[in-house]
Amino acid sequence: MIDLLRQNGTFFKANLHCHTTVSDGKMTPEEIKQRYKSNGYSIVSITDHSKYVWHRELEDPDFLPVPGVEAAFTCLDPNNPPLKYKLCHINFWAKDPRKAEYVVEDHSYDVGVINRYIAKMKKAGWLCGLNHPGWSLQSTEEVHGIRGLDTFEVYNHASQFKDNNGDGQAHWAVFLNSGLRAWALAVDDNHAAMDDVDGDDTLGGYIMMSMPSLSYENFAYALENGHFYASSGPEILKYAIDEEADEIVLRCSPVHRVLIKGIHTVPDVRLAAKEDTITEARIPLGPIRKKEPFFRLELMDTRGRRAYSQPWWFD
Ligand SMILES: [Zn+2]
Ligand SMILES: [Zn+2]
Repeated sequence: MIDLLRQNGTFFKANLHCHTTVSDGKMTPEEIKQRYKSNGYSIVSITDHSKYVWHRELEDPDFLPVPGVEAAFTCLDPNNPPLKYKLCHINFWAKDPRKAEYVVEDHSYDVGVINRYIAKMKKAGWLCGLNHPGWSLQSTEEVHGIRGLDTFEVYNHASQFKDNNGDGQAHWAVFLNSGLRAWALAVDDNHAAMDDVDGDDTLGGYIMMSMPSLSYENFAYALENGHFYASSGPEILKYAIDEEADEIVLRCSPVHRVLIKGIHTVPDVRLAAKEDTITEARIPLGPIRKKEPFFRLELMDTRGRRAYSQPWWFD
């Protein structure tokens, strides 16, 4: 049995994109910790806009604050009159906060500028991910030009909640289908206060990270190597390959549909519950291996919330 969740330890719940009063968020870092820790999260990365702070004071044996920062690349685009304005946001997380150095730079939107900055930051000890391509209204071509991404937001809760464009899964699918690789990430990107009239934009998008124990080293390893799944609701409890039976084995919280995707949706193994929900499945791997360079799962619950496994490449 190949355990695709790499569950050599326990799952730790994480939100890796979040704003506080350090930039334009309405909750203080302490309020963020209180909100997330009391709702079962062990890891939160505070990624304020262009302001890097390591909130070490929030650390305790059951809570890991991950130092991060959100970089913005923007420009006016006079050649593109309907849109006028171009935008790309990238999150960075320190691989080792004692060593990572934040490269401060003013930058405009240009794929060359973005790639040079990513390369500099990675060299300085950071992991990075593309944020909310849907909310940024980026074309898939623009996204394909970006190099060095570790993660890709398939779900951004604040963008979904406020603007109904927090879904990045189509951008991610086209990205993977072009041969590029980045792990699926779901986040809150929360800015609001809990008593906001618009509502609370926390506790929507999360990842479950598989780690032997809660430590910074384990966190960085799991993030870089895709030892996590992304979700806006459903939980994936088992996700493995049974080599003898040549099947994918799935166990999950009750969901309405399970889609198996490679470059294409594999229709022969699309599962839909007619009345009841699905909590386990065995999916033949043969037809997928014949046609697809990789496979991954998408789970949908009856409220339309989705979970994304990471892709498994046959090479
Ligand atoms: Zn952003
Ligand atoms: Zn943000």
